[in-house]
Amino acid sequence: MIVILKQNASKEKVEELKKLLLQRGLKLHLSDGEETSLIGLIGDTTQIHEDELKALEVVEDVRRVSEPYKKANRKMHPGDTVIDVCGRKIGGGHFQVIAGPCSVETRDQITQVAKDVQKSGAGLLRGGAFKPRTSPYAFQGLGAEGLKLLLEAKKATGMPIVTEIMRLEHLDLFEDVDVIQVGARNMQNFELLKELGKLDKPILLKRGMSGTLDELLMSAEYVMAGGNEKVILCERGIRTFEKSYRNTLDISAIPMLKKKTHLPVIVDPSHAAGIRFMVEPLALAALAAGADGVMIEVHNDPERALCDGMQSLTPVMFDDVMNKIKRVLEPFGKTF
Ligand code: PEP
Ligand code: MN
Repeated sequence: MIVILKQNASKEKVEELKKLLLQRGLKLHLSDGEETSLIGLIGDTTQIHEDELKALEVVEDVRRVSEPYKKANRKMHPGDTVIDVCGRKIGGGHFQVIAGPCSVETRDQITQVAKDVQKSGAGLLRGGAFKPRTSPYAFQGLGAEGLKLLLEAKKATGMPIVTEIMRLEHLDLFEDVDVIQVGARNMQNFELLKELGKLDKPILLKRGMSGTLDELLMSAEYVMAGGNEKVILCERGIRTFEKSYRNTLDISAIPMLKKKTHLPVIVDPSHAAGIRFMVEPLALAALAAGADGVMIEVHNDPERALCDGMQSLTPVMFDDVMNKIKRVLEPFGKTF
């Protein structure tokens, strides 16, 4: 981090600033130019906030030369992190497909979809019990009952389950959930992230619809800073000016995230597209771009789905996509 001092900065105030920085355990590198004087900060600057320094009278500007996230940073951890969910590995050359309905609706629905997607090769089962809906009048999910049905489907198939948490008070209900999802709308629910950081359980963290990659990584850092380093990142499309599809899948995010972080990166083509026919091409594009997995919505009867039917695949369509995924993965040497 570099602190640029104001031209007319008084010696006394600069000394005060130096003292403050030294007290934070940093080493200082001073550079007195004819026009500009700088202080280079050496050491762990993650605990220093740019705004805190910018507020000081003698400071003209503050620039970060290294990223504010540390545990999520690939520089600190050059090898890929591999997350093991009940024997299903994600990351470091291991690819996983998470599939299932948008929401858990009935016992028969979730169990049947679980069996179908498992037969096609999906490793994990998804299904929302607590749903973040734009309208308060839309189906909100079955709540605790939905979690119970999801656990029954887990028992029937042996598939680990992924489901979204919306509030901290529900955490006890998630005890037997294998991967806790933090949805796009909660990417910056910092209190929730802090609590999830205390668990020893994988967290699937979705990118907010207007979240930058660094903001996503800072959210991952919240979880990791608490001690839980099992974070899987998920690109699920961002909001742009384009209205032809639900969101714009940011394919560029995949190679860039893989460069910035060692954490596994998966893609949700269903919420990115919002339309069934686009799910397959986006899924294939995601894995060609280096994603460690995809999450796809599958429903036994999409036309009657209580949520996101338009983007849900039938089990037959999903089976076809899975065959294509396997063929595309082969030359990359990735394994299921
Ligand atoms: C979901 O996966 O069920 C979901 C609500 O997705 P997102 O948070 O990406 O909108
Ligand atoms: Mn959905």
